[in-house]
Order: sequence, then structure tokens, then C-alpha cells
Amino acid sequence: MNNKNCKNFQISRLAIGIFVLISALAGCSKDSNITTASTTQVIDTSLFNMTSIISINEVTKTMSDGSSGVCYAIKIKSIAPDHAMGPYCPTNTSQSVGVWVDPTLGATAVDATYLNYLETKGWDIVDNNGNVRICSTDADFQKVATQEVGNWTLAQATANGVINRCVAPTPKEQSTMVYIPKFPKKASSPMNNPGGVVPAGLPGLAIALNGIMLFPPEPTDRIMSYQNIAPFDEKGGHVGFGFDYHYHRAWNISNTTTKILGYALDGYPIYTNATEPDGTAVSGLDARQGHTYGTLGYHYHENGNYITGGLTGVYAIP
Ligand SMILES: [Zn+2]
Ligand SMILES: [Zn+2]
Repeated sequence: MNNKNCKNFQISRLAIGIFVLISALAGCSKDSNITTASTTQVIDTSLFNMTSIISINEVTKTMSDGSSGVCYAIKIKSIAPDHAMGPYCPTNTSQSVGVWVDPTLGATAVDATYLNYLETKGWDIVDNNGNVRICSTDADFQKVATQEVGNWTLAQATANGVINRCVAPTPKEQSTMVYIPKFPKKASSPMNNPGGVVPAGLPGLAIALNGIMLFPPEPTDRIMSYQNIAPFDEKGGHVGFGFDYHYHRAWNISNTTTKILGYALDGYPIYTNATEPDGTAVSGLDARQGHTYGTLGYHYHENGNYITGGLTGVYAIP
């Protein structure tokens, strides 16, 4: 953390403290400065690992329901600060590296059994020496992006794209802005699972406490239509078309004390999957995997498959 970040961070913590104090003094009376959202939830920015977060500042944004709301503007590098990124693919069939979510088999280790299964479907992802064909260069990864975004046919991709590859580019540090409402409020029409795509214009569905974006489930069919796979590393992450490292699963990334793994773009926290922080079994989740429990207020639970099933609250228009 450099001094500037440290200062912003301390200011935001101070702001939270003042807000909590004012809220306590005011009880449930109306806060004239905050008319657009609940005041019962406040993100705990002290939980963020600032190593790969460039800055956290407060801004006012237009929200998805047209209102205006106070948000944290979190500038991220998309580089995991607390674990290795990758490896994603085995180099040969004697190894088991990475996990892919096959539409038929579910979450599957990428090993000889799975690669041979793909070969039986007519793929050619392993060469005659047992080496896995890996897409690792920036140029080839850009071809993968072009064919997927352009919705090419397999024939087009065979001629001009990249097929039969285990896709594993190297992530690049960047600067991406993420907005999270400071005072979450539920939307009149929640956004249910967007089905494998990040809603237009948004940087993901949520941000993990280490500053990495959390995505909806990957578009497996689209990727595999070119006889490619893009496995996750052991943390559930891989690299996006902008060379941004992001998670599709939330394996072992939660705060060990709070059990929070991050905040959705509507400001509600996401907890680990099996139990509440107090150890009680999770029950009664809505279509977005959210509910209200105890003193936690509304929150989501990651279920090992989906990080959230959508967004229940309003979110900032970027
Ligand atoms: Zn992805
Ligand atoms: Zn819960």
C-alpha cells in the first residue's frame, strides 16, 4: 500500500466511523443526505486487501433504477495479491492441472481421463506425443476472443481462428473501476442469473476482498463450440479477454474470520456456501442465492457453482 492509498483508506474508514456514530445518534430517523437507499448496510472496506487495489474513494453515481447513490469507487489491478494465478492447463496427459466445468460431466479435473474423453468426441487437443495443445500467446488468445465475440462458425475458426486448445494466457495488470453502493437497496425487479455473461458495461457481478472480480458462470458452450476449454486454477480463476484475471468460482478465497468472500455490485455481501458465519446451515435462499438471516441483513451465499444468482439490489451505471 502506498501513502496515497493508505490515506484514502484511512479517510474512508473515518467516514464509516462518523456515519455509524451519526446513525446511532439519529436512531431510525430520516437522513436528509441519503434519500435513495437503506442505511442499514455499510460495506466494511477494512476487509479489503489493498495490495492490488489502487484506490477506494466515495463518489455519487446514477443507479440502475435511475436514482442517485453514494458508491465506493474501487480501482483494481486484476492481479491476485495473495496467491499464484494459474496454472490452468496440464502440459501433458501425465498431469492433472486445472478444473473445467463440462456441460455433461460437471466440474472435472483436466487430466488424461478428461482429455481422452474430449478426443473421443472428435477433438484434437492432445498431440501424438501426449502433449496438450495450449493456447498461451497473446496473439492466439486474441483470436480466441475474436471468434467468440464474433460468434464465428467452427469452420470459420478452423480456417482463421484457434481451435482444439486448452486456453491459458498470462494475465496483465490493468486499472479497472468498480462501483459498489455504500448503502444497498433492493431493486423493484431483481436481476436473476444473467446466464454466463457479465451484464453489459459491468466489470463482473461482484468483487472479492482481494480486489479480483467475481464473474457469473462461464459461457462453457460458447468456448467449447470451438473445441477449446479455458480451465480455472485451484482458486477458481482464469483470464478474460481483456487479460484480466477473474474468478468464476470462489474456492478458498473468503475471509477466515467473517466468512465474507466479497461484495456484489449491489453492495450486499457474499458469504461462503455451507453455513452462516455462526455455523447454522444455510436455508431459504431466493433465486439470487440471497436471504436475510439474523443480524446480517440481506446477503448472498456462494454455492460452489454460482457466486451469486444475480443482483437483488440496484447497482451503479458505470
Ligand atoms: Zn472467465
Ligand atoms: Zn445467510
